Amino acid sequence: MTTEVEPVAEFRARARVWLRDNLPPNPPDQGPPDSKEEWDRARELQRLLYNGGFAGICFPKEYGGLGLTPAHQQAFTKESYAYEMPLILNVPTLSICAATLVDLGTEQQKQEHLTAVLRGDELLVQLLSEPSGGSDLAGLTTRAERDGDRWILNGSKIWSSGAYAADYGLCLARTNWGVPKHRGLTMFLVPIGAPGVTVQRIKQVTGSTEFCQEFFDDVALGDDAVVGEVDNGWEAASRLLYHERSAIGGTSPYISGARPHLGGEDSHILELARRTGQLDDIRVREDIGEARAMTVVRDQLIDHITRSVLAGELPPAAGSITRLFSAENSWLQTDMAVKVAGAAAATHAPGDPADTAKIGTDFLFRAAWSLAGGSTEMARNVISERVLGMPREYAADREVPFNEVRRGR
Ligand SMILES: Cc1cc2nc3c(=O)[nH]c(=O)nc-3n(C[C@H](O)[C@H](O)[C@H](O)COP(=O)(O)OP(=O)(O)OC[C@H]3O[C@@H](n4cnc5c(N)ncnc54)[C@H](O)[C@@H]3O)c2cc1C
Repeated sequence: MTTEVEPVAEFRARARVWLRDNLPPNPPDQGPPDSKEEWDRARELQRLLYNGGFAGICFPKEYGGLGLTPAHQQAFTKESYAYEMPLILNVPTLSICAATLVDLGTEQQKQEHLTAVLRGDELLVQLLSEPSGGSDLAGLTTRAERDGDRWILNGSKIWSSGAYAADYGLCLARTNWGVPKHRGLTMFLVPIGAPGVTVQRIKQVTGSTEFCQEFFDDVALGDDAVVGEVDNGWEAASRLLYHERSAIGGTSPYISGARPHLGGEDSHILELARRTGQLDDIRVREDIGEARAMTVVRDQLIDHITRSVLAGELPPAAGSITRLFSAENSWLQTDMAVKVAGAAAATHAPGDPADTAKIGTDFLFRAAWSLAGGSTEMARNVISERVLGMPREYAADREVPFNEVRRGR
């Protein structure tokens, strides 16, 4: 058996030719995916990548991936910037949910779901947050109870990105109320189309309806739906949150085709200044310089943290550093764009020389960059406690059985 790995340069050259021959050029930014058609298009593109031998570059070979290295993925990603790619599958399907299944799924779950994901046949979403939960994830109250050889799921989840178009959701539920909150949870792989699951879409201030709320009414699940161990779902959730921070922070090896972060980029501000005739304005030039410096630092931080975690010099929790910096950078880029656009950010009209409409909606959405993928305050807690080894934050419910914890706000 040969174990020789294709050199990155050769892989990159092969990818360049394949991309040119098979994918259409990158369309203009379409915003969040609000229709099933957009997801269907992403599935189609993913299928194309799979059939062309460029899907799941860092996923194991036995489940449909290529079993290659992050360097191969980075090379492919850079080559693919100019082409239409199934970017909406990156978060959460590929880099968070599928990555968690690689780590913790049973052989059957991996065989069944990973190949389907890599072929574009299945979309996975995260069902973690709850209407009264938020950052206190381990305090969730969606419950799964044993009924003979089945689990019966009841409760509600919220802020689930793209659930309306998904096939399965990784859902964290409470299975034991007599132990402290972190110990009585179990992760389930829930079919979104199962009887008893209702999905409602939520309209955001930006007009997007990508977010969903789900209701579970006596949803029956088998033991084969359990991801990881019963009552040890916090381990599964921690793994999933680790992958989420890596994805949002830009260090995930499972993201294909996307630039390191989903937020604003300084090139947009430069283009905005050019189109609005402000390139000679000293103040605007300083703003562009500051935005550029932040992006350069972010990219170097991502490289540094990725290498240090892979080399074992930093713990995996260090991904929270890039997650935090990416959020700070997104706020700065959005604010700079508004500064350069001035009143046009709010008064955009068709025919205006620059795309200031997007700047206005980006500004409305900017708080999301500090919340999605775990809030920045929580990232700061992780950095202080798990990277710097500082004392743990006080928690009144530590070691208290969950059914004795005072709740309700
Ligand atoms: C774009 C986007 C996509 C999302 N996608 C999904 C998804 O697909 N699936 C899903 O399950 N969820 C998703 N979420 C939800 C997201 O995970 C939560 O918003 C996040 O965990 C924070 O919860 P919260 O917004 O309810 O904030 P809250 O928990 O209400 O917190 C409010 C503020 O207080 C701070 N805070 C709370 N407790 C502490 C503490 N102990 N110490 C310091 N500060 C604290 C928080 O950090 C935050 O800034 C998404 C959110 C966004 C914005």
